Amino acid sequence: MKAVFLDRDGTINVEEPNYLTDIRKLKIFDEAFKAIQLFNCHGFKTIVVTNQSCVGRGVLQEKELIKINTQLQKTLAKKNAHLDSIYYCPHTPDDQCLCRKPKIGLLQRAVQEHHVNLEKSFFIGDREFDIYAGKAAGCKTVLVLTGAGKQMLERFSLKPDFIATHLLEAAQWVIQQSASL
Ligand SMILES: [Zn+2]
Repeated sequence: MKAVFLDRDGTINVEEPNYLTDIRKLKIFDEAFKAIQLFNCHGFKTIVVTNQSCVGRGVLQEKELIKINTQLQKTLAKKNAHLDSIYYCPHTPDDQCLCRKPKIGLLQRAVQEHHVNLEKSFFIGDREFDIYAGKAAGCKTVLVLTGAGKQMLERFSLKPDFIATHLLEAAQWVIQQSASL
């Protein structure tokens, strides 16, 4: 299976200044609906991979995080945009876990659970650790300029395969590229 891995905050939904801890503040970008529909109808497993150290820091309870993720999934589903899984890392950097991006533990989980072929897959996000995780796993990478994306442009070491204004433009590029993989 080919997959698209999507960061959550700043990529699918508006990023909150600290962490998204209030479910009422979940605001999905307009472009995200159509983008995810496109991934679905082109045969991509569509999997969210998100760092949520707010759980490890005690700012948000894990069950509240799961509620927010479920709401995200349901709101998208109402417009026929389907997420196959939402994987999150609840740890802080001090925990030295294997799942916090740029580590690739959550992508390896997708290999196990969804039989994903990483070399035919893409990682889309607005932060450097999204691009690094995607590259480390052998995926093609897209930086979106929503969320923190514009700030990331100044980091010259970061070389995503493509830079997109928003998730829909990223989706159009991914589909075009995928045809030639
Ligand atoms: Zn972790």
